[in-house]
Amino acid sequence: MLIVVNDPTLVERELRAGRLACPRCEGELRPWGHARRRVLRTTAGEIGLRPRRARCGRCSATSVLLSDLCLSRRVDEVAVIGRALLEKAAGAGHRGIALRLGRPQETVRGWLRRFSSRTALIQAHFRHWALALDPRLETVTPQGSPLAEALEAMGLAARAASLLLGPRAAWSWVSAMTGGALLANTSSPLPAPR
Ligand SMILES: [Zn+2]
Repeated sequence: MLIVVNDPTLVERELRAGRLACPRCEGELRPWGHARRRVLRTTAGEIGLRPRRARCGRCSATSVLLSDLCLSRRVDEVAVIGRALLEKAAGAGHRGIALRLGRPQETVRGWLRRFSSRTALIQAHFRHWALALDPRLETVTPQGSPLAEALEAMGLAARAASLLLGPRAAWSWVSAMTGGALLANTSSPLPAPR
């Protein structure tokens, strides 16, 4: 899977021009049909997506080109999940967050648990990204909960990326920098900066 900007026309143009790289081997991706339709629950209601699929000219692996509004295997927009994480860091409980977001308690609890189980990995990952994007960045002395520190590192990396590569919503950077795997299980590796 490859996380791409939420602009199907641009993605199509980049794909056809051979400018998208295979997430496994960096080979050139070529058009290869579409993935199944799916519904994404955004902050503003449900939208339908039909992600493009591509095939690598070098290793032949196929990849789904998933919009940066999404995380892998989650039906909720990354910004919705992000809001839950920020509320949790500010001291809210999963019941109140679920109520405010209009999502089932179990779903919200699942996000928070998964994120909390890998905050050290996530923090290290985004610090690595932030420093790769801005080597002059000063290292911040950790303060607050592991969850707050992980969110802080994510914010730093997203800000550095927007300054260097052009503005993009912070949570979309988070999706892109994790290859959609922010809430994947702990054995799943996160993609390093290139
Ligand atoms: Zn490949």
